[in-house]
Amino acid sequence: MKKAIIYVRVSTEEQAKHGLSLDAQERVCQKLAEQNGYKSVEIIKDEGESAGSINRPGLKRMLRLCEEGGIETIFTVHSDRLARNTEDHLAMQRLFSKHNISIIYALQPNIDRKTALGQTMDTVMAAFNEMQRLAIAEKTKSALEEKAREGWFPGVAPLGYANVDNPNFRNGEISKRIIVLDAPKARMVKKLFELYATGNYSVYELSDMMRKQGLRTKKGGLLHPSKIYEMLKNPIYIGELHWGDIIVKNAKHKPIIDKKTFQRIQTILDNHNHHTCRRRKYQFLLRGFVYCADCGKRLTAEWHLKKSGLKFAYYHCPMRDGCKKSNYIDISVLEKQIENKFKEIQFSEDFIKLVCEKARIILEDKKKTINADKRSLYNQKTAIEQQRDVAEQKLFKGILSDEDFTRNRIRFKEELDDIQSAIDKLDEQKEVKVDEIQKILKFARNIYASYKEAPYSLKRLYLGFFWERFEVKSKVIIKAEPTLLFKTLLDNHKVIINDSWGD
Ligand SMILES: [Zn+2]
Repeated sequence: MKKAIIYVRVSTEEQAKHGLSLDAQERVCQKLAEQNGYKSVEIIKDEGESAGSINRPGLKRMLRLCEEGGIETIFTVHSDRLARNTEDHLAMQRLFSKHNISIIYALQPNIDRKTALGQTMDTVMAAFNEMQRLAIAEKTKSALEEKAREGWFPGVAPLGYANVDNPNFRNGEISKRIIVLDAPKARMVKKLFELYATGNYSVYELSDMMRKQGLRTKKGGLLHPSKIYEMLKNPIYIGELHWGDIIVKNAKHKPIIDKKTFQRIQTILDNHNHHTCRRRKYQFLLRGFVYCADCGKRLTAEWHLKKSGLKFAYYHCPMRDGCKKSNYIDISVLEKQIENKFKEIQFSEDFIKLVCEKARIILEDKKKTINADKRSLYNQKTAIEQQRDVAEQKLFKGILSDEDFTRNRIRFKEELDDIQSAIDKLDEQKEVKVDEIQKILKFARNIYASYKEAPYSLKRLYLGFFWERFEVKSKVIIKAEPTLLFKTLLDNHKVIINDSWGD
């Protein structure tokens, strides 16, 4: 026989403010219980009781009944009837989940649990997708970095160079595409640098001169002063490779400018404008997530230089007095505590199945899109090849001048190269996407391991997926507030909490 409880509560203030009365709460819950097939339900009331504490006679009785077993469903108007703080809320959810008790809120949107779960799934998948996007970006990033470390410029070739297939490419190597000198343009680039090195020309004058000489950007646009300025500062032209933090002094491409000229140019540039060189900051993982439990302020992170010369990073309360001292906490200590929080959570089996199915559908869709994109690129390629053939015929018939033909041929070549690299990119994407299901599954199956191995940006995303904020007191996280998404998952028993919470 199915048993259910209706729980109603009003606080003293609510009574004074004419909030939803006990009777009104009881009526809506009763109706809902009947709709769900419950004939007799026990009604538990807490009158003049605040939800701030769990020390309420009615609630205590209800929790005891839950512990004893036999309760199948609890009806209440809103989750705030049961608890107003996250710990209590989560503790109760845990208890309900342990005893297989469903909770149905009469005046909260998750009454229709199927729909609510559907919505949650979409949100979860959106979040997963975002995580995947980042994971792929990280993977691509590391592949490019690997290429850079080997001395091959991994990006789009700067003016004066061209991206081409490596003639000496062997399978398994990373340098399938490389940059080489684009001879006519390289000569003009060299001229540009030499002119600037005389100190007699501004970037504006050079922009004008280059326009007259026909040096244009890769897309055929004019060479703006800002672009020239950028070029003059780019050490790629002396054969160096700078990619993020990676610097390779003797890269595999040929230099266009000698070091002396380049150095002279840098001096001229420095004299012209005193731009500040911004150093990249250390990225504090928990920035924005951790708060001081005493004053509620967001903890700040900073470096401290010890007398020994070693640097230590800390999170601390920004207040000058009082809590600041007690909350001076080494970043690794706090980050470890957060990491351990992930040990406590796992998705339920049925949820993992749902995720798998959804991920499979998404993957199929993406593959379709990629294939469609590829087809359209191949069509473009064919069209350009046809144009090229027409141009050849015109040349033989004498309709097209030699000069025009050469110019066209270069343009066709560049366009074809661009299309080819776009096709290559799509193929790469496709490869990466095949791993996606695996990765999503891994995350779904082991949140903790996924978090632990994740790079910085992904870690922040995982954090934001589950937690709104953490409160820190005396160097310990005393409260973890879940996100709405996480809460919904908990309410639907899609996430299981393995361990004690918040203590
Ligand atoms: Zn504080």
